[in-house]
Amino acid sequence: MHELSIAQEILSSARAALQPYPGARLERVRVAVGELTAIEPELLRFAWEALLEGTPEAACDLDVEWRPAQQLCATCGVPKARPPRGWLPVCGDCGGPLRVDGGQELDLLQVSFVVPDGENGHERDD
Ligand SMILES: [Zn+2]
Repeated sequence: MHELSIAQEILSSARAALQPYPGARLERVRVAVGELTAIEPELLRFAWEALLEGTPEAACDLDVEWRPAQQLCATCGVPKARPPRGWLPVCGDCGGPLRVDGGQELDLLQVSFVVPDGENGHERDD
């Protein structure tokens, strides 16, 4: 499951963003995942939970924003509607060849966190 190493990468990038804030705790991390990255959002979220389980940041959510790839026609110059998870062989309007655009994203979009400065925190007492 390569999602686990990707979750690890996301986590270390998110933690790096928190470095100027000592004691800060991750609350929510938002990423964009492209269709062509071969990452399954469900598996990524599962790996994320497994990674944070038992840590003070176990409640941190991972929001995955799905970015589908687009098929563009060079002749018409516009993106064409694709069937879900399927591809068009040629442009439905002019029969011209299509190229694929986007879908390669793996971006850290937003990192939300709390800094425990006078704040009582959300201590879990299991
Ligand atoms: Zn066309």
